[in-house]
Amino acid sequence: MEGQQSPEEARLEGARVLVTGGAGFIGGRLVAALLEAGAEVVVADQRPHPDPAVRSVVGDLCDPDVRKRAVGTGPDGIVHLAAATSVLRSIEDPAGVYRLNVEATAGLLELAREQAVRRVVFASTNAVTGDVGDAPINERVPLRPLTPYGATKAAAEMLLSAYSGVYGMRACALRFANVYGPGMRHKDSFVPRLMRAAATGTGVQVYGDGRQVRDYVHVDDIVQAVLLAWRKGVTGPLVVGSGRSTSVNDLIEIAREVTGAPIPVEHVPPKAGEMPAVVLDISAARALGYEPRHDLRSGLATVWPDFAPAHRTGEGGAHGASEESGGRVES
Ligand code: NAD
Repeated sequence: MEGQQSPEEARLEGARVLVTGGAGFIGGRLVAALLEAGAEVVVADQRPHPDPAVRSVVGDLCDPDVRKRAVGTGPDGIVHLAAATSVLRSIEDPAGVYRLNVEATAGLLELAREQAVRRVVFASTNAVTGDVGDAPINERVPLRPLTPYGATKAAAEMLLSAYSGVYGMRACALRFANVYGPGMRHKDSFVPRLMRAAATGTGVQVYGDGRQVRDYVHVDDIVQAVLLAWRKGVTGPLVVGSGRSTSVNDLIEIAREVTGAPIPVEHVPPKAGEMPAVVLDISAARALGYEPRHDLRSGLATVWPDFAPAHRTGEGGAHGASEESGGRVES
């Protein structure tokens, strides 16, 4: 990521950035990039940031006092990543997911307004737009979420829109595609499941015929988009993906090439309501200077070391699956 932007553009010297969810998968990469660019970072997360040198506010952001402590650190802006990210959980417990994804977001925006915080970059998802067949999804496609998770993200986007409209905040909602990259060993989305299958010599289950297409974007490209949105003070929604759609079958084929493992496939009936296609139009992000740098071959090669048996030390073998939070479905 570094070295491809001009140094002037890349530097964020002295910018004070509050990153909610900064101990998570995307947050971890983002915090490292922000620090590298010279920013002063505070992480607000229910888990401590793994690097004790990173200033952290540890607690549940559903708690107003935790939000106060976080925004009370005096940031110039907030990158709001903390969320309940499981689609499955959102179906089982929509009210619980609403509390964090909508209420806590509203609470953060209120504090930001009171304290004249100028920038908010929010992690939204392409799941806000629902099923539009294989038509490319751009920012003008109407919001029509199909799950409570998507609905909470759409609701948060509406709040952001109002706060940037009325209070002059530079608030943007980056609609991420399926994000993958290093640091997702404990996740249960498709890419880590593939990598685990390759590492343990087991197979993967594929819903339906595997011809459904998705946009898989590398976490470092997501980080690039967040930094860009921050530097340029982007407002409104922005679709952020790789700009390429790949079928599940092709993804498996690339994973076989990268890992050298056969990865047998078991086809199971399609999930109800699963979208046959997600095709993202990233031309608006491109017009702002965003350019994805990873394709799936180079991208999966950055993920494999987290899973490959030769790289796994101190874990008592290649089977890390017992650590997973079962049933978690990523957006
Ligand atoms: P993650 O689960 O790895 O990270 C989320 C972080 O938020 C975790 O560190 C968690 O501890 C923290 N958190 C959760 N609930 C909290 C609470 N109540 N109080 C304080 N902290 C809390 O998720 P991620 O993949 O890094 O996703 C980051 C953001 O990007 C989320 O908003 C997610 O909805 C969005 N997003 C992710 C993807 C993807 O494919 N990973 C796709 C679209 C959108």
